[in-house]
Amino acid sequence: MRQDHIISAKHLSREDIEAVLDRASTIADDPAAYSQRHAGSLLGLMFYEPSTRTKMSFSAAMKRLGGDIVDMGPVEYSSVQKGESLADTVRVVEGYADALVLRHPSEGSAKMAGEFVDIPLINAGDGAGQHPTQTLLDLYTIRENAGLDDLTIGIMGDLKYGRTVHSMAYALTNFETSQHFISPESLKLPRNVRYDLHEAGSSIKEHTELEAILPSLDVLYVTRIQKERFPDENEYREVAGEYQIDTDTLEAASDDLTVMHPLPRVDEIAHDVDKTDHAKYFQQAHNGVPVRMALLDLLLGGDQ
Ligand code: ASP
Repeated sequence: MRQDHIISAKHLSREDIEAVLDRASTIADDPAAYSQRHAGSLLGLMFYEPSTRTKMSFSAAMKRLGGDIVDMGPVEYSSVQKGESLADTVRVVEGYADALVLRHPSEGSAKMAGEFVDIPLINAGDGAGQHPTQTLLDLYTIRENAGLDDLTIGIMGDLKYGRTVHSMAYALTNFETSQHFISPESLKLPRNVRYDLHEAGSSIKEHTELEAILPSLDVLYVTRIQKERFPDENEYREVAGEYQIDTDTLEAASDDLTVMHPLPRVDEIAHDVDKTDHAKYFQQAHNGVPVRMALLDLLLGGDQ
């Protein structure tokens, strides 16, 4: 990989993405060959926001490479409570680890933190901004199920605050895809993201209803309304529960439709969808381990 920090999917080229996905496939085929690859290396985990999948799969990935983790632990027990700045904390933790994974509620925090450290820093979600490693595992899952070129994808739900959506939209500009965005009017893609997509030459279509577009989709990527990002709870209530899919909805879909979700789901996908062949969201979550192993291996110089 050319870059040391992984801050935004906007900076990932097709070559970067394919390097990670190809390495992830190799690892998934023979994990034992990588089990001691980074023995002695430490990954620093700094999570200022809740996480299940990202934190656990990064930990599993590092341990499955033979390394270990040092975890800042819950924010309420860290020196953040004493008023320490993010810039100071990352500079300290840099001395304890070989790479850092940072999740923080403020958009732009990972970029800022990256300016203070020389070891690789991975953005594991900066507020409503970006979540590039989620996108890598999403692309891996898409590649496994539908292929990445000539793809018609629908991305539905909270397109305004959903960082996984923003990262995915940028990364897909590297491939031959037609992107359809489905959301209530108030949760459309932010203007800056739309602008960037336009600049990248991507033709996107926006919809408020799924119905008309569903039959043409290869992938439907469903997202949670990001309750925690709404400045006003009433605004959340106005849109909560607006987009839900179940097996009846999917009757109009192609038999090959892949349904994905970065998880956690609230009520966007009914549980009856889980047992259909469309449902790939648990496989998607599991792919977090080989994909993050691949990314860590490349960033920690596994080839040298
Ligand atoms: N787990 C994803 C994220 O951290 C998606 C979500 O929370 O809805 O962005």
